[in-house]
Amino acid sequence: MEDVIIVGAGLSGLTAAYYLKKEGINALVLEARERWGGRILTAHAEANGTPVEMGATWFADKHTYLMALLAELKLPFFEQFHQGISVMEPAGSAPAQLFEVAQNTLPSYRLAGGTSALVHALTRCLAKDRVVLGSPVSEVTDEEDHVEITSTGSTYLGRQAILTIPPFLVYSQQIRFSPPLPEGLPEVMQHTHTWMSDAVKFALSYPSPFWREKGYSGTILSQAGIAQQVYDHTNRENTRFALKGFLSPSAYALPREERKQRVVRQLSGLMGKRAQQYLSYTEKLWKDAVYTHGDYTQVVLPHHNNGHPIFSQPLMNGKLYLSGTETSPVFGGYMDGAVYSGLAAARHILSAAGSCRE
Ligand SMILES: Cc1cc2nc3c(=O)[nH]c(=O)nc-3n(C[C@H](O)[C@H](O)[C@H](O)COP(=O)(O)OP(=O)(O)OC[C@H]3O[C@@H](n4cnc5c(N)ncnc54)[C@H](O)[C@@H]3O)c2cc1C
Repeated sequence: MEDVIIVGAGLSGLTAAYYLKKEGINALVLEARERWGGRILTAHAEANGTPVEMGATWFADKHTYLMALLAELKLPFFEQFHQGISVMEPAGSAPAQLFEVAQNTLPSYRLAGGTSALVHALTRCLAKDRVVLGSPVSEVTDEEDHVEITSTGSTYLGRQAILTIPPFLVYSQQIRFSPPLPEGLPEVMQHTHTWMSDAVKFALSYPSPFWREKGYSGTILSQAGIAQQVYDHTNRENTRFALKGFLSPSAYALPREERKQRVVRQLSGLMGKRAQQYLSYTEKLWKDAVYTHGDYTQVVLPHHNNGHPIFSQPLMNGKLYLSGTETSPVFGGYMDGAVYSGLAAARHILSAAGSCRE
């Protein structure tokens, strides 16, 4: 029998596991994918290994739970580069407008080495055999003094459990609960937005930051082109160079080659022909990630129901807790919400009456 089982090895689940470990509890983490990190994914460009964020990237001073965790793990970070000329491309045929980001804008930060450095730091603290990859959970049953969790034919028993699967996926994956979840909770889950679950991200890596050399910041905001947002993605050491951003949702329907060509054409039109001399094109279509994205049956607006109070109620007589950034009343949808909710779930477990750990 496990003391605690955590479902999901994204930032929430790993944060919970980390804090429990600090208190002497070796939770078992069950993860559906064959990798850790969930919506945190630092890829490495094919040509020269430039780290490019395909998932979470930025954070700020206001994200106090995340900042405290980074300080505790001694993870260095640096400011997003914005200096120079930025480009705004309006809809229609109006010409692009140039602007500069105001000096007094509050900084946003990126993690040195990529956001996955946070995932690696958290997992380093856990024993390897405490995270079981390739284990999609399909069923959670209340067995009076423990919970039984079923995953691809295996059954795991835990005195307590934390479920960090995004609430909408709990609904869309049809995870079975016995007894059923309390009235109202499945309906809220069905209408809870999963932040960025349909994003299309891309990165182009370059031998040098040609945009900086021409006085551009690398920032492009576009209502006309396939790339809607583009930012400088140079690493902290200034040795690897890339432009990274978000494609329009309609890009999803195009073939990869077409997406790449349109991005390169747009960037070279706005910042010059050297945009064509890229080393690698990397992209990630999160809509295809079944353990992040599910198709909503109705319109669900961004952040809808994120942090809904119903998520904070203990389930199965205090043996099961919901966690995950979408359950967080603090910056729900963002990394800070993931850290907050992981920490909150760990604290519930530690303070739960009757939790028995010899
Ligand atoms: C493209 C993109 C850009 C983003 N940019 C930013 C940003 O700049 N700043 C920011 O703060 N946030 C950003 N975010 C959001 C940020 O990534 C999330 O807030 C955070 O990573 C969520 O962590 P989580 O653990 O709550 O959820 P997840 O990372 O989704 O983790 C849930 C885990 O559960 C697993 N799982 C799912 N189903 C099952 C199952 N049945 N059984 C077992 N495991 C299962 C999943 O595989 C996953 O590992 C971005 C997200 C994306 C996708």
